[in-house]
Amino acid sequence: MIDPFGRRISYLRVSVTDRCDLRCVYCMAEDMTFLPKREVLTLEELDRLCGVFIGMGVQKLRLTGGEPLVRKNVISLFRSLGARLGDGGLKELTVTTNGTQLAHMAEDLYGAGVRRINVSLDTLDPAAFKAATRWGDIEKVLDGIFAAKAAGLAVKINAVALKGVNEDEYDRLLAWCGEHGFDLCLIETMPMGDISGDRTDQYLPLSLVRSRLREHWTLEDTDYKTGGPARYYTVKETGRRIGFITPMTHNFCESCNRVRLTCTGTLYMCLGQEDSADFRAMLRDPSVDDAALKAAVEAAIARKPKGHDFIIDRRHNRPSVGRHMSVTGG
Ligand code: SAM
Repeated sequence: MIDPFGRRISYLRVSVTDRCDLRCVYCMAEDMTFLPKREVLTLEELDRLCGVFIGMGVQKLRLTGGEPLVRKNVISLFRSLGARLGDGGLKELTVTTNGTQLAHMAEDLYGAGVRRINVSLDTLDPAAFKAATRWGDIEKVLDGIFAAKAAGLAVKINAVALKGVNEDEYDRLLAWCGEHGFDLCLIETMPMGDISGDRTDQYLPLSLVRSRLREHWTLEDTDYKTGGPARYYTVKETGRRIGFITPMTHNFCESCNRVRLTCTGTLYMCLGQEDSADFRAMLRDPSVDDAALKAAVEAAIARKPKGHDFIIDRRHNRPSVGRHMSVTGG
């Protein structure tokens, strides 16, 4: 699949649920209204649509959410997608999770064919973690992370850089990741969906974070790529990598290779734009076959925009896109 700007689309991110067992302050409002079940695609519908994308050249698939691992029986979807791994088909099946369910699911994920996972963890401080997630228990997440490591999964820790929340912690996070053999990826907060607070107060440019880190760590250039937007460095002192995802200070849309499917079957061709294509009605219409789904995917890819235009400053203190990250899948 090639979009109008010559970019090859080989990466599909699928939000399998809008629900989450945490309420990170920059991600969701405390009193979120979640979707009724009938609006959410069944696991079979998700599997069928993913199969169409794989048939059209998608090589990497990431399940996300909401919290993907709280969806009932989601492991059966991992298994059916994992069965599509192999020559000429899917190359990688992966997941982004908050880690709360990993202690009992890590081995099953490995068994389904997952080899790398991203775990979101913004802070190692139990009180700060509770405050950032509104009620999360960090011990549960740490148990999950170490269960994943023990199961043989490569773990990357994702932390959103938040002023006043974790800005004094990156040295500690980097050292902790080095000690346990995890890569770390820092992410700039993006203006998506209404939250209770003011995003201008939270926004921390990663250009600043990187120069502060360089006071204590040697960040060596590397051309390591995971097919995502992160710019990676090798940390000489630990031998692990640190990545920076900078949608605000450096727009990376020119190399975008992905599209995002929500749990209701809406395909967003860009995280930061509103245009979308609906697949749920087609999936539920018995007269629609896979060839028609394929034609609809092609038509959607032909509308993929050049890029996003996120802005956070005092004059633009409203979301650039109305939907929360948990809808499109972060
Ligand atoms: N529940 C899973 C998790 O915690 O990783 C998957 C979904 S969550 C929406 C995916 C990632 O998006 C998390 O790392 C989260 O921190 C990040 N995220 C959520 N809202 C964001 C925002 N406004 N800007 C930047 N990252 C955000």
